[in-house]
Amino acid sequence: MTPYRSGFISCDFDFDAKGKHYGAAHLDYSNDEGVSRVFPIPIVSITNGDGPTVLLTAGNHGNEDEGQLILRRLIADISPGDIRGRIIALPALNYPAVRANTRTSPLDGDNLNRCFPASTVAGPTHAIARFVVDALLPLADAGVDLHAGGASAKYVNTTFLCTCEDATVFRKSFDLAKAFNAPYMYVVDGRGSPTGFDPAAHAADVPFISTELGGGWIDQEALEVGYQGVRNVLAYLGIIATSDARTESGQITYLDARKSEGVVYAPHEGLFESRVDLGEEVEAGQTAGVLYSLDEVDRPPTVLKFPDAGIVCAKHISARVVSGTRTYITVSTATEHTILRTVDD
Ligand SMILES: [Zn+2]
Repeated sequence: MTPYRSGFISCDFDFDAKGKHYGAAHLDYSNDEGVSRVFPIPIVSITNGDGPTVLLTAGNHGNEDEGQLILRRLIADISPGDIRGRIIALPALNYPAVRANTRTSPLDGDNLNRCFPASTVAGPTHAIARFVVDALLPLADAGVDLHAGGASAKYVNTTFLCTCEDATVFRKSFDLAKAFNAPYMYVVDGRGSPTGFDPAAHAADVPFISTELGGGWIDQEALEVGYQGVRNVLAYLGIIATSDARTESGQITYLDARKSEGVVYAPHEGLFESRVDLGEEVEAGQTAGVLYSLDEVDRPPTVLKFPDAGIVCAKHISARVVSGTRTYITVSTATEHTILRTVDD
């Protein structure tokens, strides 16, 4: 490939080389305080014979470690002889944020997943988004971006599917999510996050999904669902043998967040005692938990209730909340048939 150069990034990685290769895109950053550093964003390619190319990324948010672990394991496990086609893996996509263990970049404060498609490169984080759009998406036949709840939230183990205008790309992305075979498929209106990675991939005609796998602390089940899910996608695409897939493992619960999510906000700072676990089905008006004032010990606790019925799919993991903390997110379930209808039906 022709070397890639932008205002911040240079990359000489040879994506066409056969075998397994480790390299990097180099993010060059300096500021007025005299900080000047090169951040090597790691890239791994595994290539053998003819077949499709899958793009696998993690560390889009730097404090989400599950996806990074899953891709590290996959990179270690897969040899070129195991595949037909090409795997391009970036296990620490926003490398400065991964280094800092932060959701957003320590360099410019930007959230990479709000920087796409980066038609104007406003800084180093936009430059990473632009690199993805210009150099990586054109190579990809499909892709998965692995997320988790990070330091403050925990999710059910779910694929995350954005709707898009192009019915063919949406259907292929749906099939990818179904092949991943996580216990849940969380569907959102892609028009609600036009600056995200998934809509940028869809705009480039690349079937693409992301995930939310646990969060807060590393749990083995989230890693297992994610690792097996990525392998299922590789098998679905024909990159590894289908005998390596494990797709019989149960029913997918479809979560339809295209029109609304039920959010339980903390109305004031305090200590929140949650009363409901992830994955539980709740009724509208059901008690979510009680919130104690930090300062006024004699103040009766505030009872927080779920505004809508649904499945509890994300939860704030600490008792410490401030005004506006999203303590819970619930989403109503749907059938596969309903999900496959477009938003405007
Ligand atoms: Zn994330």
